[in-house]
Amino acid sequence: MPDERPRSLCVFCRLHPVEDAWRPFCSERCKLQDLARWADGSYQVAGETVADADDDESENPSSEK
Ligand SMILES: [Zn+2]
Repeated sequence: MPDERPRSLCVFCRLHPVEDAWRPFCSERCKLQDLARWADGSYQVAGETVADADDDESENPSSEK
């Protein structure tokens, strides 16, 4: 039986094995990019508050300006 088990892959790039120093990432680069993704807001789930301001009649398909 194999003595060494496969190492987990980086949770960000899913390409490189995780380095202990950067768990659960493979490198500092992936760690920073993952953090930046959250800070950037591109990964947000409920980020439509801005569009809601002009969304009063969005449920009415016959609304015309
Ligand atoms: Zn990575």
